[in-house]
Formats: sequence, structure tokens, C-alpha cells
Amino acid sequence: MISTRMENLRPYVPGEQPSDKSYIKLNANENPYSQCDSVVSAVCNFVRAHPQKLSLYPDPDSTLLKNAVAAMLNRTGGVLSRAQCCGAQCTPSSQDALPFAVTPEMIYCGNGSDEVLSFLFYAFFDSSARLVLPEFTYSFYPVYAGFYNMPLDVVPLYDDLRLDVQEMSARAKRNNSGMIFANPNAPTGRALSRDEVRAMLQRANSDKAFIVDEAYVDFGGESCIALLKEFPNLIIVRTFSKSMCGAGLRLGYIVASPEIIKTVTTVKNSFNHFPIDAVAQVAGVAACENDAYYCSCAKKICAAREKFSAFLRTRGWDVVPSSANFVFARKKGVAGKTAYETIKSRGILVRHFATKGIEDYIRITIGTSEQMAALCNVMETL
Ligand SMILES: *Cc1c(COP(=O)(O)O)cnc(C)c1O
Repeated sequence: MISTRMENLRPYVPGEQPSDKSYIKLNANENPYSQCDSVVSAVCNFVRAHPQKLSLYPDPDSTLLKNAVAAMLNRTGGVLSRAQCCGAQCTPSSQDALPFAVTPEMIYCGNGSDEVLSFLFYAFFDSSARLVLPEFTYSFYPVYAGFYNMPLDVVPLYDDLRLDVQEMSARAKRNNSGMIFANPNAPTGRALSRDEVRAMLQRANSDKAFIVDEAYVDFGGESCIALLKEFPNLIIVRTFSKSMCGAGLRLGYIVASPEIIKTVTTVKNSFNHFPIDAVAQVAGVAACENDAYYCSCAKKICAAREKFSAFLRTRGWDVVPSSANFVFARKKGVAGKTAYETIKSRGILVRHFATKGIEDYIRITIGTSEQMAALCNVMETL
């Protein structure tokens, strides 16, 4: 009964979401801090004051949310952990100040960045050229490539898990193809500077889509939004799921040229007119307006990451330098699977990938300082 297409489908496997709430959950890179009061109030007030809005379809274009996202990016420069917040005021650090204002025409909002990525794959990649991506990166990219039947050109990482930027751009040029990677990358946490990404775009010298997934950039990477006017083929994907305490809201967005945004909107209107429900739109706007809160969360997470990384190194772990809200680490003589199982048996979930080449590592999401203290107690025994 099922199609051949379906038979060949290999779905993404997410981190465990146990119904047993007693686990400390450090396995899915979610934000350990609760959604802020202003978002909770905005949602409650909206539902109470406008129950009829739940009977009607939401704004298909998320107009207010696009406005709010653009304003938030202009206030923060797109990196929350470095933005200077004073009360409700946020200003970008000099490193992140944008050379132009992001406008709402440069924003597309979707039902999580996973959906946004699917639309981008549909709009900009096809079977005519092998899409370039790193060997170890967000494992949803190869899943989408399989879903849409697109061939891949997989570029190995260096031994220290840095991206081979020379080889990636050389292959994109040779294939005349697009490229996708996460920056900072997952599951490694390593980041490329904006200058390194600019050099890749220049070397690839292509008009094919070049997608940079900035799911983790708020934790200390450098955003490539500043490069958008130099490279009309550059597409930036971002999410509320990590730095904005919003994984449960399912909000992701694209920052790109207005032409690219129009193309993705055509895909959306051919698949699902109303990807973002009315409540999530209200929550997203309220979240953008309270960027100072997420700045303070991101700063706490970065501080906890540095402290935890230092702790692991003193205990003999090899820790990949991270610019994200997680660390990727291994210890000689301790199998990744054993580390994962031991930690789980003590009530804490981390992530282990059985993938050859990174099977020695575990990926640990940075939680609150209390959660990290509990984890350190367990790690002492490994
Ligand atoms: C978590 C993650 C996403 C998914 O984000 P959603 O908005 O929750 O769909 C996308 N890309 C990377 C690299 C991620 O780690």
C-alpha cells in the first residue's frame, strides 16, 4: 500500500522526551529557564480578552511577529549573550552592530525552524547538484535531503571537529551547488567567525542558496546577518527554541533578501497557509519585546558553560570549545555510550550519538547552575 518514496524515508530521531519528569533534562539543548512572565501574561490576556480569535484563522503572514523579530534583531545585533541590556533597553555590542536595519520584508516566520528548513530545501535545492554539508552537523539536513530525494556531497571535518571551510567552498564551486551548515555547528558547538563565512561565500562564488543555521548563535557566535547585503544568495535560519525559551511554541524564522522571503512564502502558501497559530504569534511578539530577559538567560548559560568546561578539563575530559548552549566532550577510556548510561542511571539525561566518528562523545546541554552542580557530582565518578 505504501509508496516507494515512503519506504525509503529515514526519520530524524530527537533527544528523548521522557514522560517521567524526575530526570534532569540536558539532552535536547532546550533552555533551562522558564518562559518569562510578560509572555505568559500576553498569552493569558489574549485568550481571555479575545476568545473569538481562537475561532478564526490567524494572520497567515504573521505580520506583527515579523515586525517584532526585525526590531529585536536590530536592538540586539542578533547575539543575545553579548547585547548590553539595561532595564528594558538593549543595544548590540560593537562586534554585533548591524551595518543596515533589518526590515520585516527580510523576515519569514514558520512553525519551528525545522519547518522553515524544509521549505528552504524545497525552494532552493534539487536533484541537479549535490548539496554541500559537513559530515557531522544537524542531522535533520540529511533527513530532508532524503525526503526530497536530493543528493549530498558530505565534507569530513578536521580531527578537532572544525569545519573544513576550504574544501566546503571548493566543492560548492565545483558542483555549482548550494550549501548548508549550522553556525555554531551541532553537535560540536564550534563556531566560524563572520569573516570565515564571508571568505567561504567569496570562494564558492555561486548564486546557489547558502544556508547558515544560527539556532545557537545567541550563545556567543557571530551572526552572519551583517553579510546579507553583500551576498544575495545567503539565507539565515534562526529559532525561538534555544535562546528564547520557546521550544514548546514552535517558532522559527528566516532572515534573507525580500526576494528569498517571497519565494519561501509561495512554498508556504502551497503547503499550509497558516503555519503559526494565533497564540504562538502573540507569544512570539511578547518574547521579542522582552529581549532583555533572554539576554540575561544567555549570559548565565555562557558563564555556566565556561565553568563546566573548565571542570571537565580538570577531570581529564577532552572538551570541544563551544560557542553554543551545550558542550561536546569525551574521555579516554570511557565509551560515550557508557558515559551516557551511567549519567542516566543517576537521573540526568544527556545525548549520545551512535554515529561512527563521534561515538566516543556525549553532548551535554548547559542547564541552570544547580543542574550543572548535580551533573558535576555524577561526572566525578566517571
Ligand atoms: C534545535 C535546532 C533546530 C530546530 O529548531 P526548531 O525551531 O525547534 O525546529 C534547527 N537547527 C539546529 C542546528 C538545531 O539545533
